Amino acid sequence: MGKKARGGAGGRSAGGGTGSGTGRRAFLVGGTVAAVGAAALAREELTRWWWRLPGMEKDRVEGELDHKGAQWAGASRANWRRADRPDDFVIDRVVIHVVQGSFATAVKVFKDPGHGAATHYVVRKDGHVAQMIRELDVAFHAGNRDMNERSIGIEHEGFVDRPEGFTKAMYEASARLTAGICARYGIPVDREHIIGHVEVPGTDHTDPGPHWDWDRYMPLVRRERAKLPSAD
Ligand SMILES: [Zn+2]
Repeated sequence: MGKKARGGAGGRSAGGGTGSGTGRRAFLVGGTVAAVGAAALAREELTRWWWRLPGMEKDRVEGELDHKGAQWAGASRANWRRADRPDDFVIDRVVIHVVQGSFATAVKVFKDPGHGAATHYVVRKDGHVAQMIRELDVAFHAGNRDMNERSIGIEHEGFVDRPEGFTKAMYEASARLTAGICARYGIPVDREHIIGHVEVPGTDHTDPGPHWDWDRYMPLVRRERAKLPSAD
């Protein structure tokens, strides 16, 4: 967040793709099969077509986590968009936010459909991590559609002008989380790929602010990343 969060801009328009669209395509494919002659298309081929149809998505389980040890706290469906990352969009950015409030406040507003924004994760002062949106889905957190589609967003409890709130436990838990994301998607651990909300093109948000200690954070991410296997 960082300012008054109003982030979802542009994120919602391209949702959908599910429902009736899929049904209609399925019918058309069926029609093609009949016209060409049933045996003309190998079943295997048909299966592959099906997989590419819009609206076909990876199976997902409510409450399933991407980050080990996180607590699931599902955000309102209005604050994110279903996607199939990294297959439909490459994930190559992590965006660091500061709530301008408490962990509880962040979780509460991200569950509010009227808020229009949410991050994938919220990190508490004591290092506790909540996952609110699956990494394969697009969270409305950066206020920039391209950045939302290519990034994972992490909120941190606290205020931009209170550096004492950015605890060791929080930096370390966040570094483990970011390192895991970088490992999963092959994202380089550098400041080009791990950025603050303030660095998102066109943003008017200032978080995580001048007191977020990048010189402390980045070595921690590198240390944690070194413990993990590479992406492929
Ligand atoms: Zn922010």
